[in-house]
Amino acid sequence: MAKIVIFDTTLRDGAQGEGISFSVEDKLKIVKRLDDFGVDYVEGGWPGAYPKDIEFFRQARSLKLDHAKLVSFGCTRRPKYAAANDPLIKNLAESGTPVVALFGKSWDFHVTDALRVSLDQNLEMIYDSVNYLKTLGREVIFDAEHFFDGYKANPEYAMKSLQAATDAGADVLALCDTNGGSLTTEVGDITSAVRARFKVPVGAHIHNDSGLATANTIIAVERGATHVQGTINGYGERCGNANLCSIIAILILKLGYECLLPGKVSELTEVSKFVDEIANRSPNEQQPFVGRCAFAHKAGVHVDAMTKHPRTYEHVSPDTVGNDRRFLVSEMSGGSTVVQKAKKLGLDLGKSSPEVKETLDEIAHMEHNGYSFEGAEASFELILKKSLGMSRKLFDLKGFRVIIEKRGPNEDPITEATLKISVDGQEAFTVAEGDGPVHALDNALRLALKQFYGKELSKIKLTDFKVRVINTRAGTAAKVRTVIESTDHADSWSTVGVSENIIEASWSALADSVEYGLLRNHPE
Ligand SMILES: [Zn+2]
Repeated sequence: MAKIVIFDTTLRDGAQGEGISFSVEDKLKIVKRLDDFGVDYVEGGWPGAYPKDIEFFRQARSLKLDHAKLVSFGCTRRPKYAAANDPLIKNLAESGTPVVALFGKSWDFHVTDALRVSLDQNLEMIYDSVNYLKTLGREVIFDAEHFFDGYKANPEYAMKSLQAATDAGADVLALCDTNGGSLTTEVGDITSAVRARFKVPVGAHIHNDSGLATANTIIAVERGATHVQGTINGYGERCGNANLCSIIAILILKLGYECLLPGKVSELTEVSKFVDEIANRSPNEQQPFVGRCAFAHKAGVHVDAMTKHPRTYEHVSPDTVGNDRRFLVSEMSGGSTVVQKAKKLGLDLGKSSPEVKETLDEIAHMEHNGYSFEGAEASFELILKKSLGMSRKLFDLKGFRVIIEKRGPNEDPITEATLKISVDGQEAFTVAEGDGPVHALDNALRLALKQFYGKELSKIKLTDFKVRVINTRAGTAAKVRTVIESTDHADSWSTVGVSENIIEASWSALADSVEYGLLRNHPE
């Protein structure tokens, strides 16, 4: 099996994406995770361009990496300096990384109009910079910026820029589609031309401005590139970089290449979530391979066929990338979904059994009223249990009151909830404050349930709370749908509530969430 080298630039090019900002600690955590995952090169930043990156490389010196090589990024020397005296190149040398990714111009238009030096001067700048870093014993990856656009405009000059880099000893020629506008056939043909001319390994660094970054990276590999650059989840400037989550999965599962450490591809989904979590980004649910919806089946015919054979509607098996298959519940899904869900609860139901029919009727009725169970499988499970007579009420609400008071224009509002519930005929009455009404209700509910379910309760935490106003038919008041996500560290689940009143909708999602969590840990 041929090996494809994976070069991750989440921390450098990825951090140039809108809304992404990593602290030094964040970066160190991601480097460790990518190292464990088996990524070959991790580009950590551009020392000098960003002060934070100098600090990162200083701290990274004491990181123990088992597999990955740390890379610093920078540009060829400026026209007025010798390579050894250019402060930016000095920063690269001082960053202490074994590898440097050095970008230089290969598009004549950029040389004359952006850099404003002569075409020959640019070639000297490439040669000098690569040569200097090689004399320091560094591995040098030459990133040929705008290579594909440059080749289309002036193929001879674009090739000369690569020649200058290889003459100086560059170890890899990474061809960049910096503006992300190249078509797949162009990337394929140009990669072939470079491969035919140079013996040095060729890489691809592709941006996604035409939505073709994955395809363009794959064709580069099919035409002989052995090094691919990209970011986890496709973070990056404008429309992002090539998404390593898709590329790694395709290279390993479909093309049979060797990448990462053996067996690690099954951690792909977890790595994707890990990086999103640190970047504080909500995951792209429809992301191929690793998104929450990547293996979610909704239409009745699909679900029905899936129960006969998973290959009917899945191109790869979700477990190969560490993802999960999900059967979505909706009035569209029909009996098979309910049968599948019941099976997970350990119950064998026939598709035409009265319980299945009753559940579907209930779902249809609730969806008509604005519920959606697709993102709220825990609420669905509670309904299913109820129609199967498996539910056990853990508590009954007797009533609640929420007061929000703001005592002046500059005062923070104070929120207080009072709550009365009963558990097996025993009443509990509590008062609690919170940052807002849902938080106060959550605190009051926890306080009330503590004496009955203290230990299990302390494990359950709310992690997310979403509110959406839903369109209702003309003539009725607008309704809100709230979805609450919770975790007990072993697992996470979502519940939903709908009402014309946001507090009532939140309460219903909250009560479901706590009940579901307690039942998980307290089945009998
Ligand atoms: Zn880039």
